[in-house]
Parts: sequence; C-alpha cells; structure tokens
Amino acid sequence: MLTSVVGYPRIGADRELKFASEKYFKGEASEAELLEIAKNLRAEHIRSQKDAGIDYITSNDFSFYDGLLDAAVLCGIVPKRYKELGLSELDTYFAMARGYQGEKGDVKALAMKKWFNTNYHYIVPEAEDDTEIKLNGSKIFDEYEEAKLNNVETKPVIAGAYTLLSLTRYTGTKKRDDYRDAVVAVYKEIVAGLEARGAKWIQFDEPSFVRDLDAKDIEFAKSIYQEILAAKGSVKVLVQTYFGDVRDIYETLTALDFDGIGLDFVEGKQTLALIEKNGFPKEKLLFAGLVNGKNIWKNHYAKTLDVLEGLKAKGIEVVLSSSCSLLHVPYTLDAETKLDEKYKKHFAYAKEKLSELRTIANIAASGDREAFAEYRANKELFAQGRDCEDADVQKRLAEIKEADYTRLPVRKEREQIQKKALNLPKFPTTTIGSFPQTKDVKKNRSSFRKGEISEAQYKEFNREKIKRAVEWQESIGIDVLVHGEYERNDMVEYFGESLSGYLFTEKAWVQSYGTRCVKPPIIWGDVSRRKPITVEWAVYAQSLSDKPVKGMLTGPVTILNWSFPREDISIKESMTQIALAIRDEVLDLEKNGIRIIQIDEAALREKLPLRKSDWYSEYLDFAIPAFRLVHSGVKAETQIHTHMCYSEFTDIIPAIDNMDADVITFEASRSDLLILDALKKCNFETEAGPGVYDIHSPRVPSVEEIVAALRKMREKVADEKLWVNPDCGLKTRGEEETKPSLINLVKAAEIIRKEA
Ligand code: GLN
Ligand code: ZN
Repeated sequence: MLTSVVGYPRIGADRELKFASEKYFKGEASEAELLEIAKNLRAEHIRSQKDAGIDYITSNDFSFYDGLLDAAVLCGIVPKRYKELGLSELDTYFAMARGYQGEKGDVKALAMKKWFNTNYHYIVPEAEDDTEIKLNGSKIFDEYEEAKLNNVETKPVIAGAYTLLSLTRYTGTKKRDDYRDAVVAVYKEIVAGLEARGAKWIQFDEPSFVRDLDAKDIEFAKSIYQEILAAKGSVKVLVQTYFGDVRDIYETLTALDFDGIGLDFVEGKQTLALIEKNGFPKEKLLFAGLVNGKNIWKNHYAKTLDVLEGLKAKGIEVVLSSSCSLLHVPYTLDAETKLDEKYKKHFAYAKEKLSELRTIANIAASGDREAFAEYRANKELFAQGRDCEDADVQKRLAEIKEADYTRLPVRKEREQIQKKALNLPKFPTTTIGSFPQTKDVKKNRSSFRKGEISEAQYKEFNREKIKRAVEWQESIGIDVLVHGEYERNDMVEYFGESLSGYLFTEKAWVQSYGTRCVKPPIIWGDVSRRKPITVEWAVYAQSLSDKPVKGMLTGPVTILNWSFPREDISIKESMTQIALAIRDEVLDLEKNGIRIIQIDEAALREKLPLRKSDWYSEYLDFAIPAFRLVHSGVKAETQIHTHMCYSEFTDIIPAIDNMDADVITFEASRSDLLILDALKKCNFETEAGPGVYDIHSPRVPSVEEIVAALRKMREKVADEKLWVNPDCGLKTRGEEETKPSLINLVKAAEIIRKEA
C-alpha cells in the first residue's frame, strides 16, 4: 500500500527559516543567504520523507510566508500599491505579507486570517478590478525541478483554483466569478508547465470544499475543474481536501476527471458515510487521510486498519495519507529530550507520523496484523489507561449549577456602576497587555529557566520592567494600564505551567503566521489550578499607580484551542475544566484589589465548525458558557474585558455579546473596519475597542490616521461605548515603533474627545 503526505512543516527542526528570515528583515543577511537556507530546508524535508518510505511526497509546500499568498502571486494577484514600491520580487512579496515602511513608500500589509479551523494564518489575497491575472513567476516549477535534481519525484502542490478564488478579497466591482476565466487559464498553464517538466502528479489543495456549498458554488467548482482537467495530458491530478468532509460536493468530485481524491477521515465526520452511500470510482485513487495531521497523539492502528480493510473490501484502491498538511504538528519527538518516555510513547510528531504511515500501510498490505510487533505494541498502548484522571476535578464538574453560567446584575446595570467606580474619560485608552519582549526580557526568562539566576533576581528584573512600563504609560496619558506581561513566553503556555494536567515540550513549535511559531502545550489529563498564577505581578503593578491596571488572563476557549487537546474526552469537558481553573484566578485577582480583568479569547473563533449548521450545537453552545463560567462570580464594580484577534467574527456577533463581558477589544485595522457595520447592525451591547492600528507590522501609524479610524468608528459605535487601543498585544514589536505609536494613539484620542 502506498503512502502520501499532504504537506510537511517548512520552518525547520530548529526553526531555521524563522531565524534566517528575521536576519534578512533586519538587513543582517542577504537575499542569497536566505534563499540558500530555504533550499537546504526543502532538500532535507523531502529527503526525510523519502527515507521514511513515503511514496507521494509534496513539493512547493515550502513558503517564505504563506502558501495561499504564493498561489496568488503565481497568478499575478498583486495589488498595485505593492508593485509601485519598485522593490525586488522577494521584497514585494514580503511587503504584501508584512507591510513596508521605508524610503520607497509606506503601505500596510494585506489582511491576515485564520486558516480554516487551525491556528495557522493565511494572507488574504486582494484582487483589484484591473489586476492582470497571468502566470507570474515559476516557484512551483522550480521547486518540483529542485526536488527532482535531488532524485525525488514529487507531487507539486498549489492551492486549488476554487479555494484561491473563494478566499481572495475583491476590492472593486468585479467579484469571484468574474476572475474565473483568467485564473483557470493560469492553472492550465501550471498543469501544462508541470507536465512538460515531467511531473507525474499534481496536487490541488481544496479545503474550501469542506465548507457549506450551495448549488452555485458547486457549479462554479465544477466548471473550473472541467476546464482544467480537460487540458491535462499524461499528468495525474489529485484534488486534496481536508479539515472536514465534502458532503456537498462529493458526487461532483467523484464524477470529475480527477485521478485521485484526498479525503479527511479524521475531521470529516461523514467521509465514510459518503463513500458507503455513493461508492467510490474504481479508476480513481482514494487518498485516505487517516493519520491526524493536527494532533500529536499516536495513531490507533487497529481503528485505522479497520477502516482500510473496509475500503479494500469495497474494491477501492487506497493510498494511506495524512489527514491534512503536517504543517500543523511539530517536527520531531527526537528533539524532546526532557519529556519522560512514559508520555512520549503516546505521541507522534510530523517525522514520527511518517513512520506511522509506512508501518500502517505495511500492516494493511500484509493482512496479518498480529504478525507485526509494531501492531502489538500499539494495541497494548491503547489498552493501558493513561492515569490522568483527577477525582476532585470530576466532582467539581458535577457540581456546576445552571446559575454559575450567569453574571448578575445584568450588563446594563453594571455599566453604570463601573462608570462611577472607575471614573474613566470618554474614549478610554488602553493596550492589549504585552509590551515589547526585548532581548533582555527574553534573556531574563531563559536565564531563570536554566538556573543561571535566582528567582529573586528574576523577579526583581521583571518588577523593574513593570515599574518602567507603568511609569511610561502614565507619562504619555494612557488611561487603563497593563503590566506588560514580561513574565510570559506565551499566553497559553504560561498558564498551562500552573495547571495540573498539562505537559510541556521543548521543541513542539508549530507555525502560526509568517515564520512565527507557537509551542502549544499538551493537555494530558484533568485540569485544575495548582496555585495563583498572575496575582503577584498584577498586585505589584497596581501598587504603582492610581489608575486601574488590568489583570491579564487567557480564557478557557483559547487555552484549549491553543493546546493539543485530549482525544479520550470531549472538548467540552476539557474546556469546562479549564474554565473552573481560570475562574479561581479571576476571583483571586478581584480579592486582591484588581478592578479590571481582561480574559483574552484570541482563539475563540478558531475551532468554530466550518459548517454553519454545526456552529452552535458543536461548539458555541459550550464555548460561550465556558467563558461565562470564568467571570460570573465577580462583583458588579469589577470590569471584565475580553480580547479577540485575527478572526472574522462578523457572523457570530450575537454569540460574542453573549459572552457577557463588559468590554471587548479586537483586531480591526487590517480588515478596513468592516466589522463595525456588523456590530451596529446587531445592536452590539458590549463596549468595544476596535484596534486602531496593526501591530503585526513595524510601521508607526500617524495621529491623523488614527483620528480618521476613530472618526469612522464613531459612526458605528456609540461614544459611551468606544475604547481606543491597538489591534493586539505589543510583544512582537520593538520599543522603537511601540513608543511613538502609542504616543500617537493617545494624541488621537485627545483630538477625538474634543470633537465629541
Ligand atoms: N494579552 C495578550 C497580549 O497582549 C493578548 C495576545 C493575543 O491576543 N494574541 O499579548
Ligand atoms: Zn490579539
């Protein structure tokens, strides 16, 4: 039985691509040096897949920033404002991804959004009415040929035309369907070009096929592929779907002239049923995504083999595949030197998943499971318990009452009480929590971790930092202060470290956006709070100022969504456990004099089911209550904030209002404030701080620019409800840009106060 991998992590085992890109951005490395490192990484990644016995290996899954952006660029979907900068090809690309501010001009980055239900973010391509769509560059050809020079025949991958067209933003009068012909023409050229270079297979990634599709969408997809597939000669085409099942378009896909269809058996709840019901064409290959590309638990071989045998019995020709790109899991367990073997034996990262694929395929092909030691060991592993339950947690869960999900008095009443208690000016200014994580800040944490400095030294350094941050915020006139989060490496890991039931890794880096990575902890067992987490820092920061300093927490939905979850209990149950733990922290902060508590839910939208019909029943119906459970116990005077970023939440605004926070700050600047219309339309009740500038880019917003944004906001949000803040935390920024940006933000708020 043959095996396939949908895509492989590109960042490098030691995040080489990240460090190389950062050097390049700082002008410390040349373009040639960056290209060389990238080339070596590609060679190594393809080599390790080859060595593991993978048959269908992907090329062109490499990207300097984002694969969808690469596909857009290859189709010439590059807005004028970037071309006009007159930069090199690579720098034009980076300008789209990160913005550009320098001698050649000043442009913002393109919008960035979460990639389906993952914590990876893609760059939203932007097509203008006069964008000339034509084959632009040769990345996909080059990377195919490069692999071939390394003696590996690969299947080059590119985002499919349907997904590309569906995720692109259209800024003019022309819409998706108006670009069809031009984009299809480019894809035909890509097919022809690959064929001419000897490619045997091409992979079109079409995750958009797992969404709700209507008759028009299906017709559109069909017309695209009829034309593209009619143009292929000897090269075979795999349409690869993932993150769900293709229930709306299954029959269309199987009727089209694809040579292979990739289906997700992990997240695709109806995948098997679709095959049962409709059959699967004998002449096509089924790329069965049975090895989870998104989680780090070992595959349960017996279950996978059962499915494979069922498919075989139907006479289907199967290629065993990962369920999606392995981009979403860390590189290798080999790097986890500190994790005990008793845990490690339950996990598989990307590299280990390669051998799982090979092993399962071998077992399936032989038909005699028990003959394989790997099979017997896997069976044994799943038969043993993991010793991860906690009776106290179980008891507390069982005792939750309906009333625990509701904060009283109601928000309207609290609003008045809080206005009096806090006495803030109109349009209060604040930031989202973190301040620049400068070298010294990171050094302090790492020295402490390595035991090079004492706990007292570590704390003293942070206190000094907090003190300076508080003084600085006061000096420029910010109204609601933060302590700066210098003690945090990451908004989830930091909390996880004080929760029992959590496991930590050294190198489980997963790409989040661009070359930035996160290191999600692993939920191993039942979760509870061992001891207060943030109270000491918050109390110290508050002692330095008469202005309110926000307590800063991460909410249960985000903690869960940014961890590798358990697979043995439900997401709902895990989330509720975490909510109880964070509730303890909220109540402790309040008890210690903290008047405003922000509970970040940056990742709320992330695990929202891709199909609308599942939104509430499969997610929001327990995620929103989990958030409410966290803060329902506080007094009326205590103001609860939440924060969200990088997600389209226009369509779940009522659910967000229903979180019952008093204030929400959120990312808005990159998406042209479109969300404001939706807030107004839904009569959004929560006070709102739509971000006035993009913090993911180093450019400094001018006072005029912020004033203009605020004026627009005032049209949609009532003055009494409008806050002034950046898009997100400032930890990824330098001090050089943060200081002038915030000074401009305060000035802009002052101007607006005079206008109001
Ligand atoms: N409070 C966090 C910070 O400022 C929020 C981060 C986030 O939303 N991603 O860093
Ligand atoms: Zn944020």
